[in-house]
Amino acid sequence: MDMKDGNKERVGESQSTYAPAENWFTTEMQIKLRDIISRNNGNEVFGVGTVDESSRICSLEHLASGNAGAVPAPGMTATFGQVLIHNHPTGNLEPSNADINVAAMYGSRGVGNIIVDNDVCSVRIVVKAFKEKKRVPIDADKLATFLHSDENSDAYGLEYRPEQVAMLRTIATAFNENRVSVIEAGTGIGKSYAYLIPAIEWGLLNQERIVVSTSTIPLQEQIIKKDIPALQTIMGREFKTVLVKGRSHFVSIRRLRYSIGQPELIPSEKQSELQELEAWIEHTDTGERSDLPFAVSDEVWNEVSSDGDECLGARCPHFGECFYFNMHRKASAADVVIVNHSLLMIDLALREQDVALLPSHQALIIDEAHNLESIAIDQFTEEINEFTIRRILNRLYHNRNGRGILTQLHSAIDALEMDRDRMMPVLLILSTDFPQKCKELFESVQESFSQITAVLTTEMDELNKGNKSNYANRNLRLTDAVMERPFWDDCKELLLQLLDELKSTISLGEKLSDLLDELELDKANESLNGSIICLHSSIRRLGALYTTIVTFMGVSTTEYCRWFEMRSYTRGRSKGQAYITLSVAQIDVADRLRNGLFSDPSKPVIMTSATLAINKSFEYFSRQVGLPISYDAESEEDTLDDKILKTALIRRCNYSLYQSPFNYRDNCRLMVPTNLSDDVHRNVIDDDLKRFMVQAISVSSGRAMVLFRSYSAMKELYESIEPELSAQNILVLKQGLKEERSHLLHTFRTARSAVLFATVSFWEGIDLKGDALVLLVLHKLPFEVPSDPILQSRSEVCERRGLSSFFDLQLPMAVIKLKQGFGRLIRSKSDYGAALILDKRVMQKSYGRVFLKSLPIQECHFGTTDELVEQLHAFFSEHEG
Ligand code: SF4
Repeated sequence: MDMKDGNKERVGESQSTYAPAENWFTTEMQIKLRDIISRNNGNEVFGVGTVDESSRICSLEHLASGNAGAVPAPGMTATFGQVLIHNHPTGNLEPSNADINVAAMYGSRGVGNIIVDNDVCSVRIVVKAFKEKKRVPIDADKLATFLHSDENSDAYGLEYRPEQVAMLRTIATAFNENRVSVIEAGTGIGKSYAYLIPAIEWGLLNQERIVVSTSTIPLQEQIIKKDIPALQTIMGREFKTVLVKGRSHFVSIRRLRYSIGQPELIPSEKQSELQELEAWIEHTDTGERSDLPFAVSDEVWNEVSSDGDECLGARCPHFGECFYFNMHRKASAADVVIVNHSLLMIDLALREQDVALLPSHQALIIDEAHNLESIAIDQFTEEINEFTIRRILNRLYHNRNGRGILTQLHSAIDALEMDRDRMMPVLLILSTDFPQKCKELFESVQESFSQITAVLTTEMDELNKGNKSNYANRNLRLTDAVMERPFWDDCKELLLQLLDELKSTISLGEKLSDLLDELELDKANESLNGSIICLHSSIRRLGALYTTIVTFMGVSTTEYCRWFEMRSYTRGRSKGQAYITLSVAQIDVADRLRNGLFSDPSKPVIMTSATLAINKSFEYFSRQVGLPISYDAESEEDTLDDKILKTALIRRCNYSLYQSPFNYRDNCRLMVPTNLSDDVHRNVIDDDLKRFMVQAISVSSGRAMVLFRSYSAMKELYESIEPELSAQNILVLKQGLKEERSHLLHTFRTARSAVLFATVSFWEGIDLKGDALVLLVLHKLPFEVPSDPILQSRSEVCERRGLSSFFDLQLPMAVIKLKQGFGRLIRSKSDYGAALILDKRVMQKSYGRVFLKSLPIQECHFGTTDELVEQLHAFFSEHEG
């Protein structure tokens, strides 16, 4: 990368700025490098060096010789704190553009970059060597004793579990070596202690902060309420832990005070809620909705809760006492910060724009990591329907009653003592032009969406013709083929009209904002300021919707999945009528996860769950989160930056699998009936199935959970066998819309004999220890609905990459789900129970073995329903006497 031509004249002038090589090399390394250059006839050579305490290069490895293209590939092995070195034979040590690009790229990975002359007398520092903070390693042997000392065992019910100790050791090594560690920890290992103990020790020893992310509230509660207090005592260490929640959980003092001052915003019958909130914020410590001692409607809470678009941050007069920022202040002083995956993903997206939600942290633990990818996809999905737009418009100007931000702003400005000629253009827009614009947009939204719904209804009827399944496809994904169909031209035209209206409304809003700026209004006027903030945020939101519709209408890419979804009103006068939602999802989040979570070479990352591996392989999980299992650095698809990161990750990642310590062989039975209809997997509930279910649930005396993937199948089976089971004094519960999950589980747990029928959300995160649950029925293999647009898009991406959409995507997804469902049954060493899988595909299909081999139980009993009822009898008699 020598500058051989145009830059030669600069040699003399810049040479005086070069540093003497002895400042940057030990004598031995100076000689070694000189020798390497000489042996290469004075041509360019590339090496990587390691620096000593005084930042001098004390070891050196020759990477490559030759031309400018020689460095990137071998340089990928350079790690944080090392330095890339090359010589410029001309003696002009100024970096060329190519040098600067390479230096910047490696610099972002913590690798320094220097240029030397052929005699290794002068040095040009392009990027200084990064000094890796010397971290104190943690002692895994010492930490392991916390898990099974006599004292702790008695007080905290701990027992020696070799798998837990091994997991702790793996994690301690990951911390000491800055690794990315992926660990499947079977149910009952006690994984939270296995990662919290080393994490806390490492954080305290090195004064570094650790973020722990989970996907479910029960696990967060377990960590905060149970594990952390216990570990304070067990480890004998004081440390601070904070649970970080999203903004919408907190009341915003400014928004609350503003709403109180604007009676038009909240209907009069709900004004009393504002008064109650005003009194409450005087004595609440948290300002969190969950701590409210009284009920507040969603309508009011949406107006008074903290909102990113309307938050003034440090410019807010209430910043010092703000509940949301107080939580963040505490998090910034905490040793351990607990979050959920959604917030982790918001933080990741913000960091892509150089801002952040979470405090800086030097290590990351992702528990329940099997959900990371799906939560990332959810987080990066945008949805629009007519209500999304109408809600913003109603807030700006309510057509029916004339209330809203524009009216408030008009009154506030009108009341100011100011030259009326100056305010007139603003007042005119606020009283006439903008309300009129909102009205037109409102009508356009109604018109466009109702026409799109009509067009889509006809189109979907057409497409669903001949669909023999018991549900109609309610989604229509925008593929190239679909966009060729005539209906799309109609939709496109309607959406373009809507975009025109949106654009002119946004333009008027921006013009109004500029005019308001020109008025130089008093920033201390809280009420006026509040209305202006609301105006800005509404315009921003309309702008974001505009962008989403443009993306929705754009050309097909592999990056996004776009689809129409037909939904129905569930209440009110329109109940049962259809409406359309437009969705845009980013389907392949692996690159964002890799770059956002694993690119810092000095940050250990632990990812764990009871369900990461498929038949002991981590390949599927690694693909999901962007971790390369193997990598060909010659790949032409990747940018140089990707190559460097992937190559580094191959070295940093390790994978471990620790089996559950539970005795599945003696305490568990897995059974598959062989004589039920093949139609089971098509959600057919026939008489044989009903009879078998009644028999099985009778044998277990209730204490059973039946998990479905389809709500209609659940409802049908529930309705058909509920009377017979009730007659046997078995309490029959069904997951419904009204009853809260926690309440339903409490009823189930406390009833002596109950059966619970449930769907998707009950397949994981449920912990029913003891004999409340001894029979688990999995209605069918939990494959995703094939018509799911995201699944379809991801399947296509998979195929395009030369993978099988079934074996490399749909099957692993279903296996992970089955493992999660199965994991509900045995929750402690003394638990026992039987699991029934009512889907013969596990024995008929070749892929069935993958399901069975991925479960922690070795043996599966196949038999007729009568035989299995007998076996259930025997099994329960053996365990219950
Ligand atoms: S800082 Fe933001 S969230 Fe807090 S009170 Fe002010 S506006 Fe509300």
